[in-house]
Amino acid sequence: MRLLGSLILFCVISCSSDGSRGRLNVSDVSSGTALDAADGADSSTGVDGGDQTDVVDGSDGADSGDAATSLDSVDTADAADGGVASDSLDGPSAPSGIVVEDLGTIQATGGTSGTLSFTTPENAVSFSITVEGEDGVFYAVDNLRGPDGVVLAPGSWPTNIANQGGHIVCLICDNRLSSGESAHGVLVPNSPNVSMLPGTWTFSVMSFTVSAGGSAFGAPTVELTDSSYDVRVSFLEPESDAIPSEGVLGLNLWFTGSNGLSAESAQTDERLQAAVLRFIETYASAGITVSPVRYFDLDIGIDTVDSLSGAGNDFEALASATAGADAGVNLIFVEEIVDGSSPLSGFGLILGIAGGIPGPTLGQGTGRSAVLIRTADVPEGAGLEIPANLGNTMAHEAGHYLGLFHSSEQALFGPQLHDPIPDTAENDNQNLMHFNNLGNIISEQQGAVIRSNPWVAPEGE
Ligand SMILES: [Zn+2]
Repeated sequence: MRLLGSLILFCVISCSSDGSRGRLNVSDVSSGTALDAADGADSSTGVDGGDQTDVVDGSDGADSGDAATSLDSVDTADAADGGVASDSLDGPSAPSGIVVEDLGTIQATGGTSGTLSFTTPENAVSFSITVEGEDGVFYAVDNLRGPDGVVLAPGSWPTNIANQGGHIVCLICDNRLSSGESAHGVLVPNSPNVSMLPGTWTFSVMSFTVSAGGSAFGAPTVELTDSSYDVRVSFLEPESDAIPSEGVLGLNLWFTGSNGLSAESAQTDERLQAAVLRFIETYASAGITVSPVRYFDLDIGIDTVDSLSGAGNDFEALASATAGADAGVNLIFVEEIVDGSSPLSGFGLILGIAGGIPGPTLGQGTGRSAVLIRTADVPEGAGLEIPANLGNTMAHEAGHYLGLFHSSEQALFGPQLHDPIPDTAENDNQNLMHFNNLGNIISEQQGAVIRSNPWVAPEGE
């Protein structure tokens, strides 16, 4: 999530509604210590007020040179179909180099699927697990074990009191992962510290409901629940047997009418096109070609999002409307994002929010199959010129959606946390995934994580 005003940092890590239920105990933890040796040294616990000034950004406008690229990849043919794209991904269609294994529909009782398993082929360089479930239910891949006794996630981590990430983020997992409401994704590996091993892997899925604590600062209550959901695993199997150095990412832009933007007008809107160009340039720096860029209208009567969690929430309604869209990350442009489901709402301005870290892969139309982007201007004095940064917000949230955590979190209530990726410098506010989202630098190892996500089709495979 990208916030302005930055007091709602508990939500930053999750970038989905689950953060809103995590409250403070999550902010304490949000992004990560378990694997990051450097974190041990940082014992600061105070509020980090200095970070707020970082939000001011004057430099984004700089690289707007090659405008031709954005137009090249604009797929105008799709603009007219209002989001009801023809070829459904209900049975996920995978590009070459990506193999999908459907583990079927699970009828879980008592909050667990029981043991599920799959076998990774010799040449697989990553796998992702996607859970598509029910409204109002949280899911978390749990007890993830690989060949040779490798344990990437311990059992029952969402209820393990030793996990400082609460039920939202597993900081005691060797492969950091976050739970998701109604849908959930996991990408392995998401740092070079984790080895991808061929052979048999086992895991379970935990299903639970979360009730807010008695106050904004109260701990949420997690209760295991029965649930029905679909699970699939996809493997990236490039011919090179290595994480591809290049890939292609589709981009679906959905317009609710906010700020006067429609599928048609957005294609000539100066601000939006500058942002799309920024997005394309950012991902190009990591070897990823963003193409095609598709434009859709999404008129379901929601242009201001005022609930992110719980039954019938706006996030879910919008994200579900992407059903049937062609492969790619869905960015939905809305007027404002107000987390009405959080008693702490109003402490900051939410500029964007992603459906998961990562979001569900190789399927559209789940309640988390999207990234929301605010289009309304930021109030005077808030310290940020939105037009220069819209592209950064888009690229940052897509980074979450593809599997990246914040490179550094804001330290508000506890030790500052950092991602598990070694080559992201701590507190580098020019990194795309720094919490304040000022820059658009993607490190080499971050790029490899993104290109491991099956939404990014391996180039030339
Ligand atoms: Zn973020």
